Amino acid sequence: MKTTILTGLRVNSEFTLGNYLGALLPMVRLANRHSKEANVNIFVPDLHSIISSVDGSLKDNTFRSIKYYLAAGLELNDNVHLYRQSRVPAHAELTWVLNCIATMGEMGRMIQYKEKSEGKDSANVGIFDYPVLMAADILLYDATFVPVGEDQFQHIELTRNLAERFNHRFGDTFTVPVETKKQAEFMGTSGGIRIRDLVNPEKKMSKSTPGENSKIMLSDTPEKAAKKIMSATTDSFGEIRFDFKERPGISNLLLIESLIHDRPLAEVIAEWEGKPSYGDLKKTVAASVRTLLEEFQARYLAIPTDNLESLLEQGEAYANSVSNQKLLKVYQKVGLR
Ligand code: ATP
Ligand code: MG
Repeated sequence: MKTTILTGLRVNSEFTLGNYLGALLPMVRLANRHSKEANVNIFVPDLHSIISSVDGSLKDNTFRSIKYYLAAGLELNDNVHLYRQSRVPAHAELTWVLNCIATMGEMGRMIQYKEKSEGKDSANVGIFDYPVLMAADILLYDATFVPVGEDQFQHIELTRNLAERFNHRFGDTFTVPVETKKQAEFMGTSGGIRIRDLVNPEKKMSKSTPGENSKIMLSDTPEKAAKKIMSATTDSFGEIRFDFKERPGISNLLLIESLIHDRPLAEVIAEWEGKPSYGDLKKTVAASVRTLLEEFQARYLAIPTDNLESLLEQGEAYANSVSNQKLLKVYQKVGLR
């Protein structure tokens, strides 16, 4: 069976630099490296998007997201499948079956759920349940590699557990995705990537964080983005050191610099560690971010839009055919067919 690599980025809002460096760019690099021999499934998780409030229209956000992959350099061929989750009903249908084998206990331990719901009674059930939908997104296609940022690793582990539980209870049905440590190795990183919030660097950068200066959006003007880097929170140690526990702000800048240039982190750390001037590092990173956005935005504007709908429809025909076969197998196993 062909290997399947799969990923998706929620389109509730514009993407951040964190989404770009942690998920979009690694996926595009992997896709281009492997799409001759592996299936590359890139889907727009529009059903996931509606668990948060949505800025703009989902339809526009969907097209923008596809254009972002193309602007990031995604090369298309017959193995690359682009599709909208809501156009492939098996995702929602398998979710229900998996809901019936997932437990309240394991779901309640999901960190993203705790962070997003903040313990509020008014939090929607989608925030609680979306990791099961994510498991369905992955298991329908027997995907083994799912490049995501570090914040999603717990959900990959949940997916593995659900797949193993289902296989154990009903017989071999799903391919179990590889464990997260191996996922990171496959992505060529030592661990998961977690770009930090520029104002509160203990937290990850998130598109749904309200603060303007906390995050860099891919649509920010390059000047505005550079200013945000210059005013990023650092520390008062007065010496550059890579240490996410004690010095998350400065460490975040070193990480961003290494990812933008695809340079080993150790090399960037060796270049800067021990130096006293935070200002010089900030200027360097600000310049890197400015150039990245200038080039990315120019490529984005040059992407033709007239064939996007048909590209998605083609992907959806493929996705429906693969996922319906898997769903039928599942329904047979649980006794519904
Ligand atoms: P939201 O606040 O709406 O949850 P988000 O920025 O967390 O937005 P998601 O749509 O939840 O983005 O995640 C899309 C992808 O981006 C996932 O693979 C996720 O792991 C990755 N990602 C999100 N934030 C970061 C970050 N700060 N660093 C690295 N990767 C990230
Ligand atoms: Mg998120």
